Amino acid sequence: MSRSVLVLGAGIVGVSCALALQQRGLAVTLLDRREPGRETSYGNAGVIGRSSLVPLNNPGLYAKLPAYLGNRHPALHLDWRRALASPGWMLRFLWEARPSQASARIAAMNGLTASAVVRHRALMQQAGISHRLRETGTLKLWRSAAGAEAARAEQALFTAYGIASEILDRQGISALEPSLNPIFPTGLFVAANASVDSPGAVTAAYAALFAARGGRIVQDEVGALRREGALWRVQTGQGVHEAGDVVVALGPWSADLLAPLGLDPKLDVERGYHRHLAPQDGARLSRPVYDVDGAYFMTPMEEGYRITSGVDLSARDAPDRLRQIDSVTQSAREAFPLGAVIGPTWRGARPTLPDSLPMIGAAPGHDGLWLAFGNQHLGFSTGPMTGEILAALMCGEAPPVDPTPYAPGRYL
Ligand SMILES: Cc1cc2nc3c(=O)[nH]c(=O)nc-3n(C[C@H](O)[C@H](O)[C@H](O)COP(=O)(O)OP(=O)(O)OC[C@H]3O[C@@H](n4cnc5c(N)ncnc54)[C@H](O)[C@@H]3O)c2cc1C
Repeated sequence: MSRSVLVLGAGIVGVSCALALQQRGLAVTLLDRREPGRETSYGNAGVIGRSSLVPLNNPGLYAKLPAYLGNRHPALHLDWRRALASPGWMLRFLWEARPSQASARIAAMNGLTASAVVRHRALMQQAGISHRLRETGTLKLWRSAAGAEAARAEQALFTAYGIASEILDRQGISALEPSLNPIFPTGLFVAANASVDSPGAVTAAYAALFAARGGRIVQDEVGALRREGALWRVQTGQGVHEAGDVVVALGPWSADLLAPLGLDPKLDVERGYHRHLAPQDGARLSRPVYDVDGAYFMTPMEEGYRITSGVDLSARDAPDRLRQIDSVTQSAREAFPLGAVIGPTWRGARPTLPDSLPMIGAAPGHDGLWLAFGNQHLGFSTGPMTGEILAALMCGEAPPVDPTPYAPGRYL
């Protein structure tokens, strides 16, 4: 009999783990209370970010703190009451931004993003959804003159990692995206990035591929997890599932299940919102654009033009706080001819550890318990690589990159 594994969570990370384990001959059951790809992996900006190397908590964060902490920048909202009641996580997050950490952090991010487009391209081919992949790059835009220097600094970093980029002036931006209003003097085009027109549909198609290859998908609420002898027992709404190995890939909910085992992975969330709008007068974009000063991504999606907001550091389950998405919607209207809002505003939560890197590997002291979460702002891009690293570790193979920076032991 083949080794059996339960993968908890069918977001992009859980589905990728399930596929990678199945490919190695394991009998995998994938559990989720919803259909695959309906939570964070649905609502993101759909960017496959090869060049996303620098996390939010980089040394530059300290200079932005006065604006951020005063809740005066749309990029970030801080719930002060919550932060003061329990300052530990926030202080760790700020401490991790110190300059001595920066180059190792960027190298670790590079390990996850270098093959992101290649891996998604291969999976999309296998799943028969290559039409969803747009290999047209991304365009970052600055409204102020200071953007030119920032663009040059980013370009230098990208060059060091072998990523080609092009700095554009107003005319260059118009040539690439004629429908953008001419309010941006500087842009940075990165051809190596890609995007999709529906990250939720892509995740669902990967799950369908897993099922077509003989994988089992169970839709049920996961309640509790405990070890009995050589087996892990997962209590769900409708029964109990057993296996020698279990993978926790519950995204922003991962810590809930681990707490009763005495494990605190220091996981918090960075909430974010999206809203779809219809384009006006035949306006179109050929790629996602990021407006640095406006603090939003705008991505052409199946449903319309998706505007995603920055970070809302409120409790995961606190009520919506729409001020940020309202503000960035207004900024997006300045940049591009947008008409009516389509459908409801969506809220999700980026699962984040203080060092902005995911946890991939064995839970210390718990035989057969494996962790794959904390993919923060980049989980849609880094999900497939996360799955590969985890499956390699579980099967005693050498992972495709050094897994040390992602080892759960750094916080557990
Ligand atoms: C606004 C926004 C924009 C983003 N933009 C991008 C982007 O452009 N590119 C990029 O790469 N990343 C982006 N991200 C980040 C990315 O979306 C996440 O990192 C990624 O989706 C996390 O995937 P996951 O599988 O870990 O979590 P999820 O997709 O949330 O999956 C977790 C799953 O666990 C299930 N679950 C939870 N608890 C239980 C339970 N008790 N029982 C059963 N099932 C349960 C949920 O139903 C869910 O399906 C963005 C995120 C946000 C919020």
